[in-house]
Amino acid sequence: MDNFITGRPENIAHLMGHEGFSFIKYNVCDYLHVDGPLDAVMHFASPASPQDYLELPIATLKVGALGTHKALGLAKAKGARFLLASTSEVYGDPLVNPQPESYWGNVNPISPRGVYDEAKRFAEAITMAYHRYHGLDTRITRIFNTYGPRMRPNDGRVVSNFIVQALQGKPLTVFGDGSQTRSFCYVDDLVRGIVELLLAESDKSVTERTDRTGFLSQRTESSAESMHDPVNIGNSRELTVMEIARLVLKLTGSSSSIQHQPLPVDDPKVRRPDIRKAEALLGWTPKVGLEDGLKKTIEYFRKVL
Ligand code: UDP
Repeated sequence: MDNFITGRPENIAHLMGHEGFSFIKYNVCDYLHVDGPLDAVMHFASPASPQDYLELPIATLKVGALGTHKALGLAKAKGARFLLASTSEVYGDPLVNPQPESYWGNVNPISPRGVYDEAKRFAEAITMAYHRYHGLDTRITRIFNTYGPRMRPNDGRVVSNFIVQALQGKPLTVFGDGSQTRSFCYVDDLVRGIVELLLAESDKSVTERTDRTGFLSQRTESSAESMHDPVNIGNSRELTVMEIARLVLKLTGSSSSIQHQPLPVDDPKVRRPDIRKAEALLGWTPKVGLEDGLKKTIEYFRKVL
């Protein structure tokens, strides 16, 4: 299901007609009904580029809150496993780098970015409540900056912006002085990690000893070992935005200049995932290096521009 508020039909055109695929154009904030049994509900619906959620603040809050509630209700009705796509934005402008799942974050709820951060924080809270109160088998992944083919050329994110600008001979728009950092994960690595997390079997010794409120939990294992608690998925190679700009110029062979523009409000100064939990719990680790991933992404944009 997708209402294409930020997605595009072209991205699923190759799946249409496949016997294992069906599509419903729908807003998941509305009551959800699906005929027949379901094994799993994976809730990814949300604008996720800062440009998009700043333009769509209410829709972003609604899908994180009402959409997550509906998706959880569907999973509960079908006895299906539930996976929430959360985000590194739950860490806000982090005071700890890299960010482990145990870090509670540094979020300004009333900042323009707060609409996304708080929607996803609420989504995590209601997912854990359905797990503890209804015993729903849930998973939460915190997705860090991801890039690759099928991004919208105008989606506003740094990798797509820089590649499109470089290929069109326009200046690369570096926000602020470009010293802020991000860590970029190629889409195939992300998808593999998410599938591993979805398919990972629950550790029954953990769930059996957790009471409905979670407060009286008898857990002896550290929360880092529970697959119901959030799991970071991302690549831990950290670069400054200036370094990304220079790398895109090198890989595209572009002679575009660099143009500094104002830094968006509350733009996180650093971001890098601590992925030791995913490595230990899922045996997952990213495999696609940044240069290789960028080359594939550049090839894609060369074709579509
Ligand atoms: N950024 C930039 N130029 C652009 C787009 C983004 O310098 O044209 C910066 C942005 O300020 C941020 C980083 O690149 O520091 C990543 O931004 P993006 O929008 O990709 O996602 P975010 O990590 O902020 O969610």
